Amino acid sequence: MNHLPMSVRVPIETDNPSIQREESLCIKCGQCREICSSYIGVHNTYRLEDTNNKAVCINCGQCANVCPVSSITETYEYPDVRKAIADPDKIVIFSTSPSVRIALGEEFAMPDGSFVQGKMVALLRKLGGDYVLDTNFAADLTVVEEASELIERITKQQAPLPQFTSCCPSWVKYAETYHPDLLPHLSSSKSPIGMQGPTIKTYFAKQMNLDPSKIVNVAVTPCTAKKFEIRREEMNAASGYLGLNNVRDMDYVITTRELAKWAKEEDIDFISLEDSDYDRLMGEASGAGVIFGNTGGVMEAALRTAYEYITKEAVPEDFLNLQPVRGLEAVKEATVTIADLQLKVAVIYGTKAATEFINQWKETNQSYHFIEVMTCPGGCIGGGGQPKGTLFKGD
Ligand code: SF4
Repeated sequence: MNHLPMSVRVPIETDNPSIQREESLCIKCGQCREICSSYIGVHNTYRLEDTNNKAVCINCGQCANVCPVSSITETYEYPDVRKAIADPDKIVIFSTSPSVRIALGEEFAMPDGSFVQGKMVALLRKLGGDYVLDTNFAADLTVVEEASELIERITKQQAPLPQFTSCCPSWVKYAETYHPDLLPHLSSSKSPIGMQGPTIKTYFAKQMNLDPSKIVNVAVTPCTAKKFEIRREEMNAASGYLGLNNVRDMDYVITTRELAKWAKEEDIDFISLEDSDYDRLMGEASGAGVIFGNTGGVMEAALRTAYEYITKEAVPEDFLNLQPVRGLEAVKEATVTIADLQLKVAVIYGTKAATEFINQWKETNQSYHFIEVMTCPGGCIGGGGQPKGTLFKGD
């Protein structure tokens, strides 16, 4: 494995918390520009003279994921987490996203898709975490909020339809940059990590009798854009609730790749670790959040919840049968019946595909109720901080 000194890596832009690069390693293969242009739909859509010489970036990290020589990587935050663990005055709490537990094993030469939840929790305890929680807890909160908001939009008509999902921070930034007219359509629900952070610093701290000002919240994710999301100005709900200044909801984000890199630096034999369980409080969830990692997962979880809220009945087996839209493989559509409602829904991955869909939707004036957009290929499972594909297994 390549152990680069941290100091030679610099942020891709001074205010970009997600991506860093080491210029001298670049072999000019152009794969980063290619994915940013052909799949993300950002590179080549603007002129630097119009942006004050600043590159537009939606923080998805797909450039890092395809870089064959790790010239571009996620910005490493695990050294800061390690420092927090060494500080006896800090309480370090890890929260893990669904896609990490099925990808982390690949970094240790386990078969692709190995389910390593127990070993992952054991690793985080061995690295010194005081508590290890499941972000699926907050994914349940996101599902309830998204479903309730959708029902309100349909029944009270106080906000426009379709409702777009908002839990992918790259999609949110993309919409802010390229489709600002759509912002009233974005769900007001925070992402699971956006809810997990303040819930830990308020509810969990109270239940466990912890001083919230000592808590260091660390999200372990497939996603480089979460490094951007947690630093958004509005992600400080706990601060107001607790009446404390400078308390961020989530303090650090480390990716699946970063976690593996950290474990290897500590010479931890991941494969031999005995399984460990999450802490009980905020370590258990309904299971709805597990499907968040795949494209269509947020949509399915929210619609199932909406179905139960509206009909007070269990969801039928064949409830959601999404069909690809011809010519647009990254877009799937369905019409879903809930009681006397016929809901037209669409699921999209890839922001360039989202723009194509939006343009078509505006041209044809079709009516939709709910649209999920995730930036990465196949959803978070293909996140910018996940193990690289076989071709590009590097760093
Ligand atoms: Fe992050 Fe998932 Fe969005 Fe990719 S699809 S940017 S991993 S939230």
